Amino acid sequence: MTLQDGSTERYYSWQSRDPVHLAAEERPRQLMGLYEALCHGLRIEAGREPEFSAPARLTGEPVFELSPDYRARWTLLGGAGGAVGSAILVLSDRPARFANGDEPLSYGRPCTCGRGHASFRLTRNEIVQLLAKDELKLYCIMCDQMPKVTEEEKALIKKHI
Ligand SMILES: [Zn+2]
Repeated sequence: MTLQDGSTERYYSWQSRDPVHLAAEERPRQLMGLYEALCHGLRIEAGREPEFSAPARLTGEPVFELSPDYRARWTLLGGAGGAVGSAILVLSDRPARFANGDEPLSYGRPCTCGRGHASFRLTRNEIVQLLAKDELKLYCIMCDQMPKVTEEEKALIKKHI
């Protein structure tokens, strides 16, 4: 899963999504300012609620940031509300929590890469806002490219929101 951090692309995954154990584990790093954006992405992508967990007694599956070549991984540390802390970011077994009526809109179509489906990583309210600005984008779960949203698809999506 990619996240745009200014001009830098950052990469994240977890064991049930990718064979992250193949990457060499480095020292954990503080998550800091990306807390909100990463948790939002994880809720949509994994459908599970992220949380910080004490390293000695993990309450879920650790989330790793990966180096751009996927050869290194590290866990992300933080505390309540994204502050500096010593707890590890994990995906709990609880379903992701979204604001009332703002759940992710289910939509996908095959990507041109042929390996995965392209989908939105957005909630209903975000889709409405981006449609209005004509900035709606799709992302492929496998290649992370952005297949273009066609006019026909936009019309279809507008009908369903
Ligand atoms: Zn693709």
